[in-house]
Amino acid sequence: MTERIYYNDSYLRRFTAHVLACAPGGATVYLDRTAFYPASGGQPFDLGSIAGVAVLEVVDEGDSVAHSLAAPLDPGPVECAIDWDRRFDHMQQHTGQHLLSAVFHDLLGLDTVSFHLGAESSTIDLEGGALDAAAAARAERRANQLISENRPVAVVYEDAAQAAGLRKPSDREGTLRIVSIDGLDRSACGGTHVRSTGEIGVILIRKLEKIRQSVRVEFLCGARAVARARADYEALNKIAQLVSASCDDAPVTVAAQLEAARAAEKSRRKLELDLAAYQGRELYQGTTPGPDGVRRVTRRAARGSLEELRALAQSFTAQPKAVFLAALNEPPSVLLASSADSGIDAGKTLKSALAEAGGRGGGSAGMAQGSVPDRPSLERVLEKLG
Ligand SMILES: [Zn+2]
Repeated sequence: MTERIYYNDSYLRRFTAHVLACAPGGATVYLDRTAFYPASGGQPFDLGSIAGVAVLEVVDEGDSVAHSLAAPLDPGPVECAIDWDRRFDHMQQHTGQHLLSAVFHDLLGLDTVSFHLGAESSTIDLEGGALDAAAAARAERRANQLISENRPVAVVYEDAAQAAGLRKPSDREGTLRIVSIDGLDRSACGGTHVRSTGEIGVILIRKLEKIRQSVRVEFLCGARAVARARADYEALNKIAQLVSASCDDAPVTVAAQLEAARAAEKSRRKLELDLAAYQGRELYQGTTPGPDGVRRVTRRAARGSLEELRALAQSFTAQPKAVFLAALNEPPSVLLASSADSGIDAGKTLKSALAEAGGRGGGSAGMAQGSVPDRPSLERVLEKLG
């Protein structure tokens, strides 16, 4: 059985212990006492070193705590050191979670159903109703007010049957470890926490995400919150510089520029159609009618899109007795357009030519389009249509 020092002193960074056992062949070490926190309750495990050997993972095995090391150790006394920056960061995020959960409960009647402390940010899942950005901002303000009040955070042990006023009832029996925030919260918890709310530093709420019946709230505490706010500022500032606006004005300026870009695109498409109409009429004027009085034009391109030729085909065949055929080598495809008085039904004609060449497509009597599997098939279709 491992004595868990972190239960009563979460600020101990260096300690002496005895290696009781090292799993045979491996580097999993058991100590008589440990300050290394094993992953549990949403809080990740500690890192650090034991006798100078790096700790890779710490696992809660019930009665004992297993330390997975970079190399095996012999039984005997060892000096241990916790990676304090990592641990203190976890203590800030975890205590921030207690504080935030209490505020969401008291202020908005929303209960925390789960907590995850991640490498980048942490999340709590809330149940009991919807949460909008304005309500989240109110909770954030209240939480930061409680941080500035620097309320004591204490650990007490009580019998589960006697313990009253817990934010979330515990289903454990026997002695409960209760973490309290003075005048605000009592929660059964085995994690590590800071000793007063001031040490949380600051709480920043970010993304709200609806997940089934609950809302997932992303939050960051302490140095993480400041680093995140800085990264957010850098990103926003870059956007603001691109549109020559201040950060505060950037959303309105970007929205206006997007709207202008959409209008420009719409106008470009209209001009393209107008141009195609002129080109189609000009092409018609310059084409000599055949013996049957029908003007035929064939356009061939190596690659691209038939869409670009549709407008030209449309304006060409808007004139009397006109047939327009276009083909692309890559992807092998074909377009056929005809005027109503040309005597050719574009849809039917193309469909039968495609069917013989193993292609697919179709369209109306005036405009049809299709594709074929390869170049030889394309040549067969063109031969048929020519
Ligand atoms: Zn806790």
